[in-house]
Amino acid sequence: MTGLIGEDKIQEIRERIDIVELVSSYLPLKRSGANHLGLCPFHSEKTPSFNVNAPRQIFHCFGCGVGGDAFSFVMRMEGLSFPEALRRLAERAGVEIEEEQLTPAEEQQRQEKERLLRVSEVAATFYHQQLLDDPQGAEGRHYLRQRGYEGETVREFGLGYAPDSWQALTEHLAGKGFEPKWARDILGLVRAGRDGRSDYDLFRRRLLFPIQDSRGRVVAFGGRVLDDSLPKYINSPESPIYHKGQILYGLYQAKEAMRHSETGIVVEGYFDQLALYRAGFQNAVATCGTSLTAEHARLLKRYCKKLLLFFDQDKAGRKATFRAMEVLLAEGLSASVVELAADEDPDSYLAGHTAEELQAIFDRARPVLQVFLDHCLTIHGDSIEGKARAAEEMLGKLRLLPSELERDLYLKELARRTGLDENLLKKKAGSRPPAARTVSKPAAPRPVAPPQQQPLRQAVASGREVKAQELLLHLMKVDAVWRQKVAEEKPAALFSDADRRAIAEGLIANSDEKGCLEEERLLNSLSESQKAILSGIIVKDDQVLAEDPLRTYEDCKRTVELGRLKERQLELAELIRQAEQNGDGEERAKYQRELSDAQKKTRMPR
Ligand SMILES: [Zn+2]
Repeated sequence: MTGLIGEDKIQEIRERIDIVELVSSYLPLKRSGANHLGLCPFHSEKTPSFNVNAPRQIFHCFGCGVGGDAFSFVMRMEGLSFPEALRRLAERAGVEIEEEQLTPAEEQQRQEKERLLRVSEVAATFYHQQLLDDPQGAEGRHYLRQRGYEGETVREFGLGYAPDSWQALTEHLAGKGFEPKWARDILGLVRAGRDGRSDYDLFRRRLLFPIQDSRGRVVAFGGRVLDDSLPKYINSPESPIYHKGQILYGLYQAKEAMRHSETGIVVEGYFDQLALYRAGFQNAVATCGTSLTAEHARLLKRYCKKLLLFFDQDKAGRKATFRAMEVLLAEGLSASVVELAADEDPDSYLAGHTAEELQAIFDRARPVLQVFLDHCLTIHGDSIEGKARAAEEMLGKLRLLPSELERDLYLKELARRTGLDENLLKKKAGSRPPAARTVSKPAAPRPVAPPQQQPLRQAVASGREVKAQELLLHLMKVDAVWRQKVAEEKPAALFSDADRRAIAEGLIANSDEKGCLEEERLLNSLSESQKAILSGIIVKDDQVLAEDPLRTYEDCKRTVELGRLKERQLELAELIRQAEQNGDGEERAKYQRELSDAQKKTRMPR
């Protein structure tokens, strides 16, 4: 529904938004030289390292490396996608974004969604009022008070009460002039009466949890009985505004705390979430009666890196934990499991323990894969066959791990715990030797390569290399002469790191004939991670450039050359091995000479 927004619109929004004013609406800033300084909202700190630069309209935190322009800021702060951030800032700046790209059908859909949100909101307000002060809501208030919840939680989460009546909501909505079809046919809050009887409310005599999206808009309801009758919970059905696989209960209230602690707690139930929130763990969200989906994981990833899975301590909870593990690992989020005594859940635990005690348990949470390994070994038993089966299951999950390093660590542990050969496990896990680069003929059965032949490719640039590359980017930003020089040499020869190379290319491409840099067009062309790097460079004082620029330039060049030489050495080692295998002495000698040459060059002093 976002449609394409033209570059000129983006430009217009950019021009009308002042980043200092924007950031100040979220946190206090103090002027300091050319920059404004504040406490970073994206990591916790005591001394400010969060810089906002008015002339350049960018921000950068030297504590956590986050940075970018106004769009980047809103994306992070509000957990929005780029088009969403655009719309948000357009609204703020009063820039009209025409929806001309919408087809009539899309336009109708948009209007329908708005209408549904409105009906939900009116229903939520009605139920909330019932719980707050309507005589009919006394039973609901009594129930909550019994569980120790005060008005504060009720207001914070907009909790409600559906009175013991067949038509309370139906009549309320009719009184507000809404056609019956919205709440009945689409949202399912009202059910159609049969055989000439009138429509009736879905929720009766239940405590209601309004389910909000990440912007705080009510999209559905969960309802709990006040006694032991069944079903204990019912949820309003999925609708055009509610897809339960995409919504997490409490996210709207939790996102700030999640961002600050970089950690989220995932629980199963509404009351688990409320109990944690009340105990001061405000970074908790609940899945609404569904297992965690990949969409949930992506949503969580906008706010935090680590997750604590805090599910019921029973068989079903276990199962949910391991299912969540799969989607989280695949999204590159790290997850640990909170373990309590059997049959406890977060809500019941907090009923009898303090927040400090729970924190201590959180501190002992183990990585989910470790818990999974224990679990596999336990259920399959100690026999050789059982261990093999456990290993198979574990390998299946390890393939999901994006980090090769982590995968290796787990393989080691798996080998240790099962007594199976580590190399065999590695092979089965499909750990990839640097095969892509070799020139080999269809290989004869070959032994597993010794570890020194599998260095961590993806050469991570060292601190010094990064510094040299950033200094060079800084030079390029300040002075067209350096952009020219890099363009002649080709960025690929100077930047070993892909993001920094892309920035260099952007600096060159967005330089006009007169040698002026079109900074805004440049920013528009970069990815978020590239913007973060560039903002760090821009915010820095140009004084640092007093360092010898030519030396910086040569440093960068040398780094790339060294990288190439090292890569070639690996290839040569493989070629030599193959020549040996084929008994080709001449080839072998040729490669050996090239290898010695390359080794000499890499040892050359700077
Ligand atoms: Zn920071």
